[in-house]
Amino acid sequence: TRIRPSSKRCAVIGGSGFLGRHLVEKLLDKGYTVSVFDIRQSYELPGVTFHQGDLCDKQALLKALQGVSLVFHCASPAPASDDKALFQRVNIQGTQAVLQACTEAGVQKVVLTSSASVVFEGTDIKDGREDLPYAKKPIDYYTQTKIEQEKLVLKACDKEKGLLTVAIRPHGIFGPRDPQLVPILVDTARRGKMKFIIGDGSNLVDFTFVDNVVHGLILAAESLRPESPICGKAYHITNDEPVRF
Ligand code: NAD
Repeated sequence: TRIRPSSKRCAVIGGSGFLGRHLVEKLLDKGYTVSVFDIRQSYELPGVTFHQGDLCDKQALLKALQGVSLVFHCASPAPASDDKALFQRVNIQGTQAVLQACTEAGVQKVVLTSSASVVFEGTDIKDGREDLPYAKKPIDYYTQTKIEQEKLVLKACDKEKGLLTVAIRPHGIFGPRDPQLVPILVDTARRGKMKFIIGDGSNLVDFTFVDNVVHGLILAAESLRPESPICGKAYHITNDEPVRF
C-alpha cells in the first residue's frame, strides 16, 4: 500500500550533514514533518525520523520516501576526498537512484543543492548569471559529477509525470557547525600558512551564510508548481539580499 503524499511531509537526503541539519531545523520550525536519509546519523531531534542508508540503494530510499511529497537532495561525498569512483557512484548513479525512487514513491518535488562551481572555468566570474554555460573543463571530479548530477535532476522535471525539479547553486557555505570552510581557514592561518597571496589580492570568492542557503532551498520548494517559471532551472545563491524569515 502506498501512503498518499502530504505536502508538508518532506525528506532531506544528506540531512545529517552541515547544510542538511540547518535545513531540517528550519523545516521543523515551519511546520513540516521531516525524514532524514543519510549514511550516518549525527544527531537526534524530536519530530525527525532517521533512515540510515546509502542513497545508491533505491529500496532503502523507497522506505524513507513513503508519503513524502518533497525531497531535498543535499548529500555528497566531501569535495576534498577527490575520489573519482566515489563521486561517480554517489553523485551520478546515486542521483539516478534518487530520481527513480522519487518517481516510484509519488514524490512531487525535488530540490537539489548543486554548486556554483558548475560554471567555473578557472577564471574570475563577477555577477555571473545562470545563463553561463557549464564548465567545459571542471576544476575537479567533485565539480564534474556535480554538473552531471544537476543535468540529471533538471532533465527529470516532467509536468506530465508530476515530478517538478529545481537546483540551487551556492558557493562556499559558512555558519554554525561548519565542519570545513572556516575551521580549515582558521587552522591554516594559525599554522602561519596564510602569508601568501595568489595574484594581486583582488580575487573574489563568494560565501553564503548557511541560513540564506536554507532560505533559498525552502523558497525554491514552495515556489515549485507546474505553472512556475522555475521548473527545471538552476539558480545561483549568494548573500546580497539579507534574509528575513
Ligand atoms: P556535509 O558533508 O556536511 O553533508 C553531506 C551529507 O551527505 C553527510 O551527512 C553525509 O553522510 C551524506 N552522504 C554522503 N554520501 C552519502 C550517501 N552515499 N548516501 C547517503 N548520504 C550520504 O556537506 P554539506 O556542506 O552539508 O553539503 C551539502 C550539499 O551542499 C552537497 O551537495 C554539497 O555538494 C553542496 N555544497 C556545499 C558547499 C559548502 O561550502 N559546504 C558549497 C556548495 C555546494
